Amino acid sequence: MENLAEKSAGLNISQAGNGKVKLATVWLDGCSGCHMSFLDIDERILVLAQKADLVYSPLVDVKEFPEMVDVTLIEGAVSSEGDLEKIKHVREHTRILVSLGDCAVTANVPGMRNPFTVQSVMDRAYIENAQRNRQIPDQVIPALLPKSVPVHEIVPVDVFVPGCPPHRDAIYYVLSELVEGRTPDLAGKTRFGK
Ligand code: SF4
Repeated sequence: MENLAEKSAGLNISQAGNGKVKLATVWLDGCSGCHMSFLDIDERILVLAQKADLVYSPLVDVKEFPEMVDVTLIEGAVSSEGDLEKIKHVREHTRILVSLGDCAVTANVPGMRNPFTVQSVMDRAYIENAQRNRQIPDQVIPALLPKSVPVHEIVPVDVFVPGCPPHRDAIYYVLSELVEGRTPDLAGKTRFGK
């Protein structure tokens, strides 16, 4: 199995089609704050756009995850059957998987429910705290897993970017290194929490 340095270096020669890195972002059980921090790189997104195409994301109108993506940023923990199915699929179709933010790296806020049973969490949300239409949904909403877990407990992760959310400079650094085929060294550039 390739290590991250080999995968990163491989991006230089795997940029099919228009020669750009295929970049995706995925939102699991998170608050969207990590995606907002990604957008906070502001005009530097134009620099990245010279090297990478955003081929799948909540920020673009693409419904199907592509056959193969070079770099995928994952926001959020794995909390539901839907998250579980999605992260396994994304891992199979991604060269370099990045856990973006404390929820992806540690479960963080979604993990706060872990001391409680799923049934008691559902009761609290949909019965005890509801003012009308008190019922636990059994359709549309994917079933919760017994615990909310970090991404690397389900699939291998190549790069960890802590922070709640990670600072925009750290996100830009990681992406700009990866699109150049280099391995990002995050020592001293990130921290858990804020
Ligand atoms: S790490 Fe923080 S900002 Fe990112 S999804 Fe979790 S709670 Fe939101």
